[in-house]
Amino acid sequence: MLISEIFKKKKCVYSFEIFPPKATFPIETIYDTLEALSGLKPDYISITYGAGGTKSDNRTIELANLVKNKYNTPSLAHLTAIHSDKEGVTAFLKEMQANSLRNILALRGDKVEGMPLSKDFRYASDLAKFISQYRDFHISGACYPEGHYESPDLETDIENLKIKIDNGVCHLNTQLFFDNKDFYKFIELARKKGIGVPVQAGVMPILNKRQIERIVSLSGVKIPAKFSRLIALYGDSDEDMKKAGTDYAINQIVDLIQNGADGIHLYIMNNAALARAVTSAVSPYIERINAK
Ligand code: FAD
Repeated sequence: MLISEIFKKKKCVYSFEIFPPKATFPIETIYDTLEALSGLKPDYISITYGAGGTKSDNRTIELANLVKNKYNTPSLAHLTAIHSDKEGVTAFLKEMQANSLRNILALRGDKVEGMPLSKDFRYASDLAKFISQYRDFHISGACYPEGHYESPDLETDIENLKIKIDNGVCHLNTQLFFDNKDFYKFIELARKKGIGVPVQAGVMPILNKRQIERIVSLSGVKIPAKFSRLIALYGDSDEDMKKAGTDYAINQIVDLIQNGADGIHLYIMNNAALARAVTSAVSPYIERINAK
């Protein structure tokens, strides 16, 4: 099912993001996770694309195909363009078509040291424009409630985001964030700038202190004072931090649902037990909104 069709049916769309196992692991190592995640009945599961973009590292289509055709859950395949070209993207799209996959998340990606930059695609909007020639794809895109780390300010980032929408992106997933106020401000600004597509809020339950340090260094997301207090209180025990981080994510999601977010995209890091804990807590709220 096209993701745009899901948004026509639901006020609040709920999805998971997973990453493929490394090429050195048999694909079967992820079967149990997929079985458990699909059993939680998300509206779709998205599958990341390795940053370098080499064929041997990328099992995105293989996973998207499994999710859709073995586990009967709509899938969204990510694709980055920064180190690719029109021929590489065309081959990816044709492989998607051959597997009856139609949902694609068009990304620029981040530069990998030592790899040549694309001669064809500078921004995600260039990739979206190229894919939109195919007509039969639903194109999603990424967005950043606190602004993308290379952007001088949020306004400029949202102006650039509008180009992505004008080039065919019809749904957005946000980068994870910890302060819902940033999401609400972003939505207000985006709507003012004429971005009307559904925006799903990206939420990641934090399991330990090392994870939060890695996320902050990679993405530059802000840690609000109330979350810093949790880290100070529970960060020295993985067990306590996992409980506090999961509760924090659940509270964040309930607040987002009650304030009319178009959807929740859960960064679940292939952790089915965590997905189950969050889903059982938030699904009554999602069901109630969708029944209205
Ligand atoms: P863009 O939309 O191209 O934006 C990048 C920067 O360029 C921004 O600062 C923007 O303001 C600026 N810009 C855009 N258009 C213009 C323009 N026309 N003129 C001037 N400036 C412009 N990475 C992976 O490697 N694999 C994944 O699977 C993956 N999945 C992701 C999923 C989500 C939901 C998110 C939020 C991110 C994901 N990423 C992934 C990370 C992403 O690749 C990086 O955040 C990357 O730095 C930006 O990608 P983008 O598609 O948002 O880029």
